[in-house]
Amino acid sequence: ASGDALGASGDALAPQSAPDDSVLVRARGIRKTFGGNEVLRGVDLEVRRGEVVALIGPSGSGKTTVLRSLNGLETPDAGELEIVGGPRIDFAAQRPLPKAARYALRDRSAMVFQHHNLFPHMTVLQNVIEGPVQVRRMPRADATAHAEALLARVGLAEKRDAYPFELSGGQQQRVGIVRALALEPDLLLFDEPTSALDPELVGEVLRVIKELADEGWTMVIVTHELAFARQVADEVVFLDGGVIVERGAPATLFTAPREERTRRFLDRLL
Ligand code: ADP
Repeated sequence: ASGDALGASGDALAPQSAPDDSVLVRARGIRKTFGGNEVLRGVDLEVRRGEVVALIGPSGSGKTTVLRSLNGLETPDAGELEIVGGPRIDFAAQRPLPKAARYALRDRSAMVFQHHNLFPHMTVLQNVIEGPVQVRRMPRADATAHAEALLARVGLAEKRDAYPFELSGGQQQRVGIVRALALEPDLLLFDEPTSALDPELVGEVLRVIKELADEGWTMVIVTHELAFARQVADEVVFLDGGVIVERGAPATLFTAPREERTRRFLDRLL
């Protein structure tokens, strides 16, 4: 791990459970149709604890829908999903999906959105502690101390009382990451976390994500930054037309893809 690059020592960013090889996420046969448009056509995904999975693929291939399904923000029509330790959900059998099942998913992961989605009328600190206090019922003093430690780790301690509009896009997105970390999730989900940023601000956000990967967080990242995916991911999953066309270690998938569709996609971007 190269966790020192963010400055402070300590384990404020350390995940809840130590990384190991056991499976954390098990999704099988995930299907989703939007208004007659079959967007996911049987997606299998397994993520081990401490693993970083990058989801790549053309726009509209279903990457975000996969990610949102893991978090309970989207409800698949069919397939099974288990975040180990929680219930195994059979989407076809449980329609409509009970609230408890959706909450069980939501409580295990935290999403970092393309647009940071910070509350504009709240300070940085208020944004970060909102979830822990309101959703997780953490005492405010504890949530504040935790938030301050996390903000310090991403170099934003002095922005505690600033409002989002007073921050750069990169700083806003780093607060978005801290807000996700403050929920102490088992799984971090990133939905194109840098695609709304000016190019010169991308690096500072990717650096934080790389730090988290090195520290053993389990993450699924939807990204167009193929160089970054190659650097940070343990496994790259290439989605096209709602199916997983190919998956593998980045060194293999990026240099010697087996499938013609993967090759064509990479040729256009690399
Ligand atoms: P990607 O992340 O790979 O760009 P998405 O998962 O965002 O793909 O979207 C896949 C397809 O599903 C797209 O055609 C998109 O328009 C459609 N889609 C996604 N969400 C919705 C929704 N809530 N309602 C209708 N169509 C949707």
